[in-house]
Amino acid sequence: MKKITILGSTGSIGTQALDVVRNLPEELSVEVLAANSNVELFAKQIKEFRPKLAVLADEAAYKKLSKKKFRGTELAGGRQAFIDAAAFGNSQIVLTAMSGFAGLEPTIKAIKARKNIALANKETLVVAGELITKYAELCGVKILPVDSEHGAFFQCLQGEDMRKINRLLLTASGGPFRGKTSDELKNVTVKEVLAHPTWNMGKKITVDSATLINKGLEVIEAKFLYDVDYDQIQVVVHPQSIVHSMVEFCDGSVIAQLAVPDMRLPIQYALTYPRRLDSPVESLKFWELNSLTFERPDFKTFRGLNYAYSSGKLGGTMPCTFNAANEVAVNAFLQGRIKFLHIYDVIEEVIIRRDIFTPTLENLLEEDKATRRLAEQYIELAY
Ligand code: NDP
Ligand code: MG
Repeated sequence: MKKITILGSTGSIGTQALDVVRNLPEELSVEVLAANSNVELFAKQIKEFRPKLAVLADEAAYKKLSKKKFRGTELAGGRQAFIDAAAFGNSQIVLTAMSGFAGLEPTIKAIKARKNIALANKETLVVAGELITKYAELCGVKILPVDSEHGAFFQCLQGEDMRKINRLLLTASGGPFRGKTSDELKNVTVKEVLAHPTWNMGKKITVDSATLINKGLEVIEAKFLYDVDYDQIQVVVHPQSIVHSMVEFCDGSVIAQLAVPDMRLPIQYALTYPRRLDSPVESLKFWELNSLTFERPDFKTFRGLNYAYSSGKLGGTMPCTFNAANEVAVNAFLQGRIKFLHIYDVIEEVIIRRDIFTPTLENLLEEDKATRRLAEQYIELAY
């Protein structure tokens, strides 16, 4: 029985991870659950999975939760309790399913406690890839990818020599605006942006999928997970989301991982690795697939993808700057303070203005704050 911790249990990845646990009661048990503010759902999860510890990061939500009675579960609240939850008890693997930069400190805490990481929170690896991979190596911790594309690379690379990789072919659905021009995207609404064609996800990543910045974040994520050059990572638009990514080797062979788009598959593989177990994920019905198509991404319209490559190549704290500018811009878009294409303008403005520093934890925390201030000021002035 593997004991697991789920940080972000009330979100899209968190609830699907709990579904994986529900389907594998002999294999997985929940030691810790942690979320932010969704008291009702969190209370239900505690009752069903009976973790040893349950934490809400939001203080007001924790107050509400603490009025309820749970047998055998210790409750805690606040940001520090959320970070500490990552290192709690005998859990062997921590699923990082919270969104955004807030994932950085808990992930480091879990690694230092020598717990393997099932990594969904890609922002952490984008912001602090060097630091996280270094700590993981020093502590003998595995970083197991949950993101479907990186999970696909991981499966394609089993038993392979990493020095024989030619290219990582990172597939992208293209989001709801594939084929559109900048002109057509000027006035798109939040509702249109949130209508993703193939995946049902949290709001932040859904906006990132529409701007293709999600793919940009995934380029940087792939760089740190597989230690290849940026020029070896190629984005391929594949609207059907059946091929989850591919690896091309030095002999020209391409190995791909295919499945119906269902996040429970990569979540389960990361949690049960190295074992491959039965799952409720539907079989692919090849005769019902009309076609599988592949296109070049449109770097001109979806220019955030360029900013990701350039921030990644510049290195140091620049991917952190890129990520923070994006988080602020996405939030502002969701609140109706800026338009869709302004997300790119905010990022561009900020990454041009910020210097690059050595990516120590202290510098990253500082850079994140400074970038957020700068991005907010720019939004305030420009729109
Ligand atoms: P959701 O928005 O659905 O869920 C986010 C979760 O994190 C919720 O449990 C939320 O708590 C919690 N949370 C939010 N902010 C904080 C905070 N400041 N401190 C602690 N907990 C917090 O996001 P997703 O599940 O879609 O995504 C989670 C991560 O996984 C992201 O990094 C995303 O990029 C990545 N990912 C997601 C995929 C998907 O299919 N959804 C695919 C690949 C990667 P509450 O709801 O209680 O407030
Ligand atoms: Mg992905």
